[in-house]
Amino acid sequence: QGTLFVVATPIGHRDDITVRAIETLKRADVVAAEDTRHTRPLLQHYAIDTPLVALHDHNERTAVDGLVTRMLGGESVALVSDAGTPLISDPGFRLVRAARAAGIRVSPIPGACAAIAALSVAGLPSDRFVFEGFLSAKAGARRSRLQELVGETRTVIYYESSHRVLECLEDMREIFGAEREVVLARELTKMFETVLGEPLGTLVERVAADPNQQKGEFVLMAAGHTMDEDARVGEGLRVFAILREDMP
Ligand code: SAM
Repeated sequence: QGTLFVVATPIGHRDDITVRAIETLKRADVVAAEDTRHTRPLLQHYAIDTPLVALHDHNERTAVDGLVTRMLGGESVALVSDAGTPLISDPGFRLVRAARAAGIRVSPIPGACAAIAALSVAGLPSDRFVFEGFLSAKAGARRSRLQELVGETRTVIYYESSHRVLECLEDMREIFGAEREVVLARELTKMFETVLGEPLGTLVERVAADPNQQKGEFVLMAAGHTMDEDARVGEGLRVFAILREDMP
């Protein structure tokens, strides 16, 4: 019986691939890739001539059976996505689940992941954190999800694309408040890598004023809700109560 290797590939810088990942891609009988056009240049760069098959969200249901049959017949499959670790906001879940259900060995070849790379440089508490993936593209759904997370005490990690980063930060400012610290990690490992961390009030202004800060790929990390915020709200209510006494 073959093995399913789940192989991490770079999130930007092409050298961020492990020696083991290269060896595994070379030795596998087939590489199942999210987008073969995207993965081919990476394989070519490392002189890997393993055949490629496509495995993306639209064909995963049908492609899985064929791959499981091949692995049961003794072939090994290396699963990759366009960037970083497969299954992390990327395809592969159905294949991994089906392989495990069929008793096939599934083995990780770990490496880059944008969420972890971003958290490692954010300077936010990282002992406990929550990964939220992408927020909805629809404003209503996005805001109600943020509303549910307003009291989350752990650091929350989001993925975002250039189309919506500003809208998303504006929604966060409205819902989490201008004081909440957010770290924006943009284009990690690439030429325009930027990490900005400050309260939402000033962060939104900085990003809005500079279109370059709205380009590329982003990880947004929101500091968890702290008791200080409760204290501030409490203080606000106290002041309001005093003022109200003087109101006509
Ligand atoms: N599987 C990938 C991983 O392990 O991180 C994530 C794939 S997901 C479809 C793509 C999203 O990851 C982007 O929209 C962005 O939010 C984040 N991302 C990927 N590469 C990044 C980078 N170099 N810098 C910042 N964020 C990145």
